Amino acid sequence: MKGLLITIDGPAGAGKTTVSRQVAERLGCRYIDTGALYRAVALAARTAGIEPENDAGLTRLCEALHLDVVRTETGMRLLANGEDVTDRLRTPEITRLASAVSARPPVRHFLLTVQRTLGCGKRVVFEGRDMGTVVFPDADRKFFLEADIDARARRRHSELAADSDQTLEAVREAIRQRDDNDSARALAPLKPAEDAIRIDTTFLDIEGVIAAILAHC
Ligand code: C5P
Repeated sequence: MKGLLITIDGPAGAGKTTVSRQVAERLGCRYIDTGALYRAVALAARTAGIEPENDAGLTRLCEALHLDVVRTETGMRLLANGEDVTDRLRTPEITRLASAVSARPPVRHFLLTVQRTLGCGKRVVFEGRDMGTVVFPDADRKFFLEADIDARARRRHSELAADSDQTLEAVREAIRQRDDNDSARALAPLKPAEDAIRIDTTFLDIEGVIAAILAHC
């Protein structure tokens, strides 16, 4: 089967994860959540006691880090040096640290190679922030999902509600800070590629977004 590379970028809470998974399944593609790679680096840095500003420490950390994405019945699992870290990546602390380390050159450089290797010649849907702009500028199709910040905060809050006591306002503020960090950084900032198809998901349900994407594939 011919290779097919689809990129889906956008800010937190725009609906990227659910939509990307479904689009990948319907098109017979693999799905890669690149945010999980940044989160895995953040977790490894925290475990090693390396601060996000310590570029020399991050360089050494990345040189010794091997990340593997494996598909299982329960979805994508992430192995860091052979250890399954998937269930440790979604805490508020790792979310904050991932945004901080993602601005650092050694981390972006390391993950650029990891991501390109994962995409090479295959059928893959990549979800992230800079997939269409930096990592795969020649992707077959590029999408950028966006939504009003209140809608994104409400979605994220209802996803977290079962195992979190964070208020809607705290979730909204964390998203706003992350949007600011991700958009303002010098390297690979969050922004739509010039040739990306932009979809505002504020008033669309998941099926509506999936249909809009599949119509272009
Ligand atoms: O998508 P997710 O919320 O898991 O991403 C965590 C963080 O990783 C983001 O806030 C962003 O700082 C960083 N990231 C990135 N580039 C990507 C994917 C994620 O900088 N392609």
